[in-house]
Amino acid sequence: DFGVIAELIHRTAQHAPQRRALADGSRTLDYAALDALMDRVAAALQRDGLKPGDTIAICAAPSTAYAAVFLGALRAGVVVAPLAPGVLPESFARMMADADARRLFVDAGVASTVGPAEAGGIPRVALDDSTAGQPLEDWLPPAGSRPVPVAPRPDWPFNIIYSSGTTGEPKGIVQGHGMRWAHVRRGRGYAYGPDTVALLSTPLYSNTTLVVFFPALAWGGTVLLMPKFDARRYLEIAQAERVTHTMLVPVQYQRLMSQPDFDRFDLSSYRVKFSTSAPFNAALKADVLARWPGGLVEFYGMTEGGGTCILEAHAWPGKLHTVGRPSEGHDIRVIDEQGRTLPVGEAGEVVGHSPGMMTGYHQRPEQTRAVEWFDETGKRFIRTGDVGRFDEDGFLTLVDRKKDMIISGGFNIYPSDLEAVLREHPAVAEVSVIGVPSAEWGETPVAYAVLREGRGETAAELRDWLNARVGKTQRLADLRLVAELPRSAIGKVLKRELRDLYVGASA
Ligand code: ATP
Ligand code: MG
Repeated sequence: DFGVIAELIHRTAQHAPQRRALADGSRTLDYAALDALMDRVAAALQRDGLKPGDTIAICAAPSTAYAAVFLGALRAGVVVAPLAPGVLPESFARMMADADARRLFVDAGVASTVGPAEAGGIPRVALDDSTAGQPLEDWLPPAGSRPVPVAPRPDWPFNIIYSSGTTGEPKGIVQGHGMRWAHVRRGRGYAYGPDTVALLSTPLYSNTTLVVFFPALAWGGTVLLMPKFDARRYLEIAQAERVTHTMLVPVQYQRLMSQPDFDRFDLSSYRVKFSTSAPFNAALKADVLARWPGGLVEFYGMTEGGGTCILEAHAWPGKLHTVGRPSEGHDIRVIDEQGRTLPVGEAGEVVGHSPGMMTGYHQRPEQTRAVEWFDETGKRFIRTGDVGRFDEDGFLTLVDRKKDMIISGGFNIYPSDLEAVLREHPAVAEVSVIGVPSAEWGETPVAYAVLREGRGETAAELRDWLNARVGKTQRLADLRLVAELPRSAIGKVLKRELRDLYVGASA
């Protein structure tokens, strides 16, 4: 059982040419237009000599043109490496070289980051009307051009997605056509179909977005791209467009739920809302379930595809503190430092096996081996770097990321425990706890907090409030108030930046 996404789009274009496929606020493509554009992109890549398995890179804000180039490349069997705009030029250059891309698609917004040197002298095509590269229209062959047909196989690479870079340099993860198909097929269970209207405001270089983007289009639905997230605007679009599906990261849910007039919007068209990529606290999930119609599904997994748990929150109100149970075909275990499987209830590193696992990190065999774990039968798992534990019903609770654990005077402190307590304070909107070097303890916990609007608590008050509620070893050495926490484009708190900030400020 294997389907080809570009082929499914072509079929929809045949029987429903005028159905809306994509819109980005300034341009709309119906299925016929999308299909024709994909053909021209595939033909242009073939004309330029790209063969199946060759790679292109796209670094731009989400747009219909971006989406059409991505999908068109797939039609030629060409692998897509979507890269994050806004990264440092050195990081960009590293990813470009790593991906070994033959063409680069950009827009005006990234032209400042991406000079010809960073791009390794690779020919550039501009997705917008800017001078960032050769205009797309010039690069494309005439309307009506067709590529030589290519039939991808499940083991062909589909895209190279870079991990979020939460713990270090982003790693290039090769995902195959078969792995993508597994997500698309699963989409059927979430009511994707011709009447789907998916609203996406997370970037197209993130797996987070792509797990919704591909099924929505493959099953003949409409994808609305929102290039820049704004909570109010999101709600206006959701109501006006009768949105049925969405993917939002927890911080976006939090901003939406705290809109003062949230309850005035008619969101009754929603069927399923997805979330993934970062801890989603139980109280917030409960609030979403209470005030936002339709189901709420949380995925836990990693770009590597190692472990996917699913929490159908609407079906399991008693399990909101968990990330759910391993989905079909997925095997998730919890192991100790010696690599032994731990029993229910005990916390250890989460490892996962899934039908859609990466073959490895692109050109990094050593790093690949470092994250592999094999059980006694030789089954291959990927280490997640997350600490978690199973309950008797098979639901996984995440404790924290292993790298974020603080070892203070020989005790293990999980930042997430302290964050959970601080979040209960009525003045605290957002919080993140990190470990900083300490001469006395080795490491010691420090918190960064963002106050809710209109609150005037001082940092010392909040620190003392927390310290009165936790064990002696867990007490904060310091708490600092900030206007916002440093986050990646998909909303993950960048703890390594907080650590640098703290060490820099104290030096
Ligand atoms: P890098 O590997 O480059 O440091 P990253 O691990 O953040 O970055 P991703 O593959 O995008 O890159 O994210 C996977 C990680 O995100 C998981 O290992 C986990 O820590 C976190 N995560 C994913 N889903 C959830 C979830 N539902 N709840 C809590 N954390 C989650
Ligand atoms: Mg990771």
